[in-house]
Formats: sequence, C-alpha cells, structure tokens
Amino acid sequence: MDETWMRRTFQLATLSAEAGFDPFGAVLVREGSLVAETRDRCIDYSDPTAHAELVLISEFCRQRQLISLEGYTLYCNVEPCIMCSGAIHWARLDRVVFGVAQYQLQGVSGGNQKPSCPELINPGKQKIVVDGPLLDAEGLEVLHRYPFRSKKDRHKKFWDT
Ligand SMILES: [Zn+2]
Repeated sequence: MDETWMRRTFQLATLSAEAGFDPFGAVLVREGSLVAETRDRCIDYSDPTAHAELVLISEFCRQRQLISLEGYTLYCNVEPCIMCSGAIHWARLDRVVFGVAQYQLQGVSGGNQKPSCPELINPGKQKIVVDGPLLDAEGLEVLHRYPFRSKKDRHKKFWDT
C-alpha cells in the first residue's frame, strides 16, 4: 500500500506543477484509508510556510479538532524540510514515508543542501518511524519535468521590494 499512497503524492505534485504551483504533494492515511490530501499552497495562500505537509497537518487537525495524529501515516513526495519535520514531531504522527530524499531534490532544483529529516523529527525519546526514499526514480521524474527557478523570478509580485 505504501506505493499506492506514494504515487498519489506524485500525482498531486504533478497537478500542482501543472496549475503553476510548486511540485509537492502529501497525503494522510489512517488504518489503510486516505483521510486528507493536499499540495504546496505557498503561492495561493501567500504563505511561505504553506508546504504540503504543514498545510495537511494544520488543516486536518483544525477540521477534526485534534492536536495529535497518533495512528496516522503521512506520505509526501519529497523528504520533509526542517519546518515540516518540526510540525511532524509536534503532531506526533506514527509514521512518515517520503519519495525523494532532500539531497536528490537539491540535485534537481539546484537549491542549497538541507539536512535529512529523521533526526529533526525525532530529537528526543519520541520515535516516529521515517521511511524513504520510496519510488524515488518515479518521484524524480516528476521533479525533472518542473522548471525550478527562484521563486522571486517566478512570482515577483509576492516580494515587497
Ligand atoms: Zn516543508
């Protein structure tokens, strides 16, 4: 089943890119069923923190009036960043599965090297299971189709300069 959910994140990332947004998607699963999904929302929310994983956790918890996601698994097409790793830690998810590793993303995007997420998600005793890369060759295909350029070039109107 991991492959099924991972491929759904790739579809969400593709749809996001085709709509003019960044190529990132995430889904939330509980007991084998999909309960929520989203894509990167930074541009349409005018919110630099609106990464797919963070939006998914935040909006789902608010809707369901939850502050813990014990029993849930989050799938994302790319390894969570520093910010989303913190959100995953605080949401107390059971498990996170990512497709493409951070270092692989930087190989495509040309971005600065970012830390890997397991030690960021689990800084103390808490042990959220982190699995990945999974189907990274397929995930990289999605990213390779996306013309990575600086956000400032692509979305100049969002800069207050
Ligand atoms: Zn993130």
